[in-house]
Amino acid sequence: MSDIIQLLPDHVANQIAAGEVVQRPASVVKELLENAIDAKATSITLVVKDAGKTLVQVTDNGGGMSITDARLSFERHATSKIKSAEDLFNLHTKGFRGEALASIAAIAHVELKTRTEDSDIGTHLTIEGSKVISQDPAVVPKGTTISVKNLFYNIPARRNFLKSNPVETRHIIDEFHRVALAHPSVAFQMLHNGSDVFNLPASNSRQRIVNIFGSKTNEKLVPVTEETEILKIEGFVLKPEFGKKSRGEQFFFVNDRFIKSPYLHHAVSSAFEGLMKSGVHPGYFLFLEVDPHSIDINIHPTKTEIKFDDEHSIYAMLRATVKHSLGQFNIAPVLDFERDKGFDTPYEYSKKSPTAPSVEVDRDFNPFKDKPKQGNIRFPYKREQASSWESLYVGLKDENTEVSGLGDIEFESEEVTGSLFENSDLESGQITFQLQNKYIVSPLKNGMMIVHQNLAHQRILYEELLKNITVKEAVSQQLLFPLELHFSKPDVDIIEKIREQLENTGFVFSELKNETIEISGIPVLIMESHVVNLLQQLVNDIKEEVPDSGFSQNDMLAKSMAAGMAIKTGVSLNKEEREHLINQLFACKEPTVSPNNKPVFTTMDVSDFDRKFM
Ligand code: ADP
Ligand code: MG
Repeated sequence: MSDIIQLLPDHVANQIAAGEVVQRPASVVKELLENAIDAKATSITLVVKDAGKTLVQVTDNGGGMSITDARLSFERHATSKIKSAEDLFNLHTKGFRGEALASIAAIAHVELKTRTEDSDIGTHLTIEGSKVISQDPAVVPKGTTISVKNLFYNIPARRNFLKSNPVETRHIIDEFHRVALAHPSVAFQMLHNGSDVFNLPASNSRQRIVNIFGSKTNEKLVPVTEETEILKIEGFVLKPEFGKKSRGEQFFFVNDRFIKSPYLHHAVSSAFEGLMKSGVHPGYFLFLEVDPHSIDINIHPTKTEIKFDDEHSIYAMLRATVKHSLGQFNIAPVLDFERDKGFDTPYEYSKKSPTAPSVEVDRDFNPFKDKPKQGNIRFPYKREQASSWESLYVGLKDENTEVSGLGDIEFESEEVTGSLFENSDLESGQITFQLQNKYIVSPLKNGMMIVHQNLAHQRILYEELLKNITVKEAVSQQLLFPLELHFSKPDVDIIEKIREQLENTGFVFSELKNETIEISGIPVLIMESHVVNLLQQLVNDIKEEVPDSGFSQNDMLAKSMAAGMAIKTGVSLNKEEREHLINQLFACKEPTVSPNNKPVFTTMDVSDFDRKFM
């Protein structure tokens, strides 16, 4: 048999390797920004078009490259940063593999302009799919500009795999944040589609954090500092009351490199123990310095994970240091997590306004039905709400989305509802009680029903909100004094994007600009004191998952708001509140599942009990 092994042509090998380095436009941003830092730039500008899909360009005023180096920089394993394997253990640079530019050039149209300090004339190089198209002398400023155009132009499958522009932009901003936070003494600018996103002057690290995350961040920061033989820690944690339900701002840098470390995260979280409610995550910006010999950053191709020689000591020191800072700044004593129940639940509100918005729906809204379906479900309470709901869901919700394992419950509630409750008149003394301030238990004719109060309320609010967003019929409560809130600029931009939907739920924005939001009206369902958290939660949810279609965005918005507003576990409910909640739940279109498809209630038959006594 003849020989069958062939060497892959360089450009093919490069394309394959590129997949590891370049996953999305944000990967290009990361590599180019890091190269600029390694080149000792003091000012770096990032220009992005169409979420980086059309253009990612980084301009720096660093050392630049000679004509030969410019050409060589695109060769695989071409690096000026290490000369021997020994150097790997003493890294002070971001890059060292000499892979990034070669990889990027394999899958994009790349243009390089560069000049060193001591040559008068620079060089202009263009490369497409690893092929050098031209290299000419050029008059250019000192430093380097690399433009990466039409990423994945020659790998359509990868290009199609890219997410929507908002998602890709989010990834780019994340990378930008990481590099900019790690290097506060370097000035950074970022433009997207021609407009300024960030303009960060050279500063110290506190100012850098504030410039990125908004001026109100300043008063939230608690400084952290410690120096021992093996570890130096600098940075800030956010005061516990600014912890977030989602992960939020959590940054570790080791020797100026952003890293992810669940282990160190645990150390910080445990320092906050007792200061934050469970489910709330601390925010932090922590800069660790260790001897480069004592870490291995080689274990992960995208270099966001590292391994410490002495992990345990680092954990212990980090935890102790953060704890100490929190104590020193006297954070602990002012905290009181015994929250007022009325404060916690918008429920009180729904009681105060008996004309809940849901009742105001136009019942003739549904063009597909002659009259609202009265059906065979005969609840002893406000069914008119339920029937008005049905119209809302026509065409909106996939009726067939069946949650596995829930079929039975759904069936049961539909079938048995006519005489579900032992006491057919709930108003006059339906027995309900609360278990663990979490579940509402109610006897049924044939057993009992256990309702999860938080999930039930989420379902109620979700349907309410979704209706408001889509039908635009929300009721707003005018605030006596407009609420002025401060967010970072990108967060304000996100709010601006969902402004219309928010207004449909009852928000009235009197001003939305830069880092300030002024609100003069809020939805009736929500308390003024909840607004900040709710908006922040929304923004975070959107950052984490930006749906593309209008409907799924409304859906996500409703889900996220419902989760933020719903009565929490731990809140005790009185008799009227429990009954009202159950009434509202069964007036819902889909009372059986929460907006996130968790079961809202379960039922147990007397026969289930009987079996336990056999
Ligand atoms: P690495 O950063 O791992 O060395 P890269 O492919 O990112 O590999 O870059 C290859 C080389 O090109 C670098 O080692 C450096 O010498 C040079 N280089 C890249 N970007 C710049 C820049 N912005 N300024 C100066 N030199 C650069
Ligand atoms: Mg590099």
